[in-house]
This record gives sequence, C-alpha cells and structure tokens, in this order.
Amino acid sequence: MTLAVSACLLGERIRFDGGHKHDRFITDELGAFAEFVPFCPEHLAFNTPRPSVRLVKIADEIQVHSNKSGEDLTTPLVQQSHNELFRLRTQKLCGIIFKSKSPSCGLKSAKLYLENGYCEGKEDGVFAHLCREHYPLLPMEEEGRLEDAWLRENFIMQLFAYDRFEQLKASNPTFNDLIHFHTIHKFMLQAKDEQLYRALGNITGNHDSLPLETIFGMYEFGFKTAIGRKSSIKRTRNVLEHMAGFFKNDLDKSEKEILHSHIQDYTDKIVPLILPLSTIHLYAKKYDTQYLLNQIFLDPYPKSLALRSAINSGK
Ligand code: SF4
Repeated sequence: MTLAVSACLLGERIRFDGGHKHDRFITDELGAFAEFVPFCPEHLAFNTPRPSVRLVKIADEIQVHSNKSGEDLTTPLVQQSHNELFRLRTQKLCGIIFKSKSPSCGLKSAKLYLENGYCEGKEDGVFAHLCREHYPLLPMEEEGRLEDAWLRENFIMQLFAYDRFEQLKASNPTFNDLIHFHTIHKFMLQAKDEQLYRALGNITGNHDSLPLETIFGMYEFGFKTAIGRKSSIKRTRNVLEHMAGFFKNDLDKSEKEILHSHIQDYTDKIVPLILPLSTIHLYAKKYDTQYLLNQIFLDPYPKSLALRSAINSGK
C-alpha cells in the first residue's frame, strides 16, 4: 500500500524553521504495512528555512502571504502545489496523510485571515485543496485528527478497504469476483452505512443486465463512498447482533449469555470492540461458520495495529 504523507510528518527537517513534526504512529506502526511518498510544496516553492505563511482572504479570493513581510506568495506556492500533485499522480496511492493546520497541507484546519488580521475561520491549505479536488474518493486525513482513536480506526479501515478494492481492480475481475468481494465486506459496509450497503447489493444484482465495466464503475463509486463513512456504536451493535444470529442455534445457554453480555458491555462503553468480536470469532471457529470467518469485518487490517483495543475507538 502506498500513501502520500507530508514530509515533515516523516521526520524530514523541512518546516519553515528547519524543524520537523515526526509522527511515530505513521512511521513506526503504519509504516510496517505501507510505503510512503513524501511531499512538501512549500519547500519546493521557497526552500528551507523560509518565511512562515498564512492564508488571507482578499475579496472572494484566498491568497498566501508572508507572515513577516505581508508579501503575496500565492503564485509560487500554487505552482509548486500543482507540481507536487503531478508527481503524486504517477503513484498508485491508497491515501494521503496531511500535516494539520498548515496553510499548504491542512484539511479544513488552516486558519484563514482577513486583511485586518482577524481570523475568519478555517480552510483547506493550498495543496490539500488541490488534492481534494483531484482525488474526491481517496482516503485523506490529518495527523492531528488521527490522535482520536475513533477517527484513526475508521481511517485505517478505509485505507485497507481501498487497497483491497484496488487489488481487485488490478486482477481483471469477473462478475463473480465482484459478488464475492461484496459478500465478504457485508458486515464492514453495514457498520459504515446500511443504505449504501443495500444499494451496492442492488448494483451487484445487475437487474438491468448492464456490462461488467459499467457495473464495476458504479460499484467502485459506491464502495469508496461507503468506506469513507464513519461507523457508530449503534450500527456496530446491530452488526454484532446480526453476526451472533448466525450461530444462535449452536450456542448453549451460557455461551449465548457470554456473547450478549460482551455486546452489551461494548454498547455501554465498558469494554472495547475487540472483546465481542473475539468472542464471535471464537464461536465462528468452534461451529465452523464459514460465512462469518470470511468476513473482512473480523480482521479489516493487520491485528498488530490493535486499534479496536481502545475503549474510545467507538462513538
Ligand atoms: S508544507 Fe506541508 S509538508 Fe511542508 S513543512 Fe509545511 S506542513 Fe510539512
């Protein structure tokens, strides 16, 4: 999996003051499963060290000004942002991680100032804005938001789901391959967005006998949209109950009690998601419930990332 990442988050001393913002989760944990393509439009435009810049709203236009001199530096930064985007387009990316609050890289977190110096709100940085326009379905996050366990779990699940879809696409898939892909993502999609899950099921049903290419394109749009949605404890609980229904006739009384108390404790935020999921996994193995064992929702990303072990990974 290849991810584009703000170079300063990878530890490169490339910030305006020659410093970095090394993020250990990205390099040490995610880095075990991903290759990184660093980018830094400001370094290309102004070199390092350089004057710090800010976004300034002039009439309806957003410009980039030097904090020190007030000089308008919009043109070189926009030009180099286009160059960085051009370079990224040669890569098969599964996602982008931006440095928060930066006037170049922030995702709706860069401060936008008025000419009189007042801060009017927050906007996309120049480069982040270009990326958002060019890659509307690509997973994107900031390192700041990834400190939230819920957002982190959702984003990592999205990255790996996006990567699986790209691998399917590259494998010259048949119609049956697409149906299998949809089937094994059933519970993951339901935890994200039940309506989209059903819409995707209708697409794979192909009631109008459309060509595979058309169906695949429709499915891709719906799937990549659905995996960008955030799961909730309520939807996840429904999914867990639904999974539990698969072996309701196999479990004895005490097994049923254990499973339902784990689901309830998860719903009450007493235990993390990993507990009811592990119990379901265990019973699915014990009772050889193959349909469940094939479900991506049980293992949506490498387990060593341990993101479902945090109580606050559910909201
Ligand atoms: S422009 Fe982006 S990558 Fe470069 S130092 Fe600033 S935040 Fe980091």
